[in-house]
Amino acid sequence: MRVKNHKLHADSGDAVATVRSPNRGGALKARYLVMHYTAGGSAESSIRHLTKKESKASAHLVIGRDGAITQLVPFNRVAWHAGRSRWQGLIGMNRHSIGIELDNAGPLDGGDGQWRSWFGRTYTDDDVIVATHRFEEIERGWLRYSEAQLTAVLEASEAIVSHYGLIEVLGHDDIAPERKLDPGPAFPMENFRSHLVGRADDEFELFETAAGLNIREGPGVQFAKIAGSPLAKGTRLRSELRDGSWHFVEVLDKNGDPETTGWVHGNFIAPAPSVVV
Ligand SMILES: [Zn+2]
Repeated sequence: MRVKNHKLHADSGDAVATVRSPNRGGALKARYLVMHYTAGGSAESSIRHLTKKESKASAHLVIGRDGAITQLVPFNRVAWHAGRSRWQGLIGMNRHSIGIELDNAGPLDGGDGQWRSWFGRTYTDDDVIVATHRFEEIERGWLRYSEAQLTAVLEASEAIVSHYGLIEVLGHDDIAPERKLDPGPAFPMENFRSHLVGRADDEFELFETAAGLNIREGPGVQFAKIAGSPLAKGTRLRSELRDGSWHFVEVLDKNGDPETTGWVHGNFIAPAPSVVV
């Protein structure tokens, strides 16, 4: 993906779907990317809400669970996603950031096989991560983000961060800690952030293959494929080293133990949805 005329374009060259939101301010020179969940029932219902004048809210992008991306506001105009917010001396982060909303129901009530969103939809354990938000003391269920969605948001964010030279990736909870929990513990923020802005908070980064993926002896397609190539979609990898867009990885088995090592292209791996080391 790439940014052209402040709009996101797919690799095919076509602009992503656009639904204009009237909820926008003046010129924007963003330095930050801010991640949100919609806490809604579908991308469609969130897009309807964020393009209705009365809601006084918007975002630059909405990304559905199927990975479909919709742009509501061009990246050089202020969108209304952050609300009352601050970060490192800046107040009102709408004027400093590009906002991405991910379709996700957010925190869930219930437990043990039966989880329920605030709007009444139910989910099974497979869809849910049980975790404590870093601002809270209670464990809750959190709806998982889908793999298609995590792949799409990473590709879109790579294009945006590099086009505008953004310096940091933040959660809505980082900039409005007294009132927001999104994008929540189901979002792999540390991996996402270190992938985009190269901040190595951890010694290594966990990823999953987003497609069948060749693993090679060196960082380039000219290097031979190694045994076990292509890796199945969903294979877990630990990235040890980067060379441009290539990662030197350890391929992890079901128990998280290293099986083999080699090079893979970073476009086809996504942050692992739940980090278990
Ligand atoms: Zn938010």
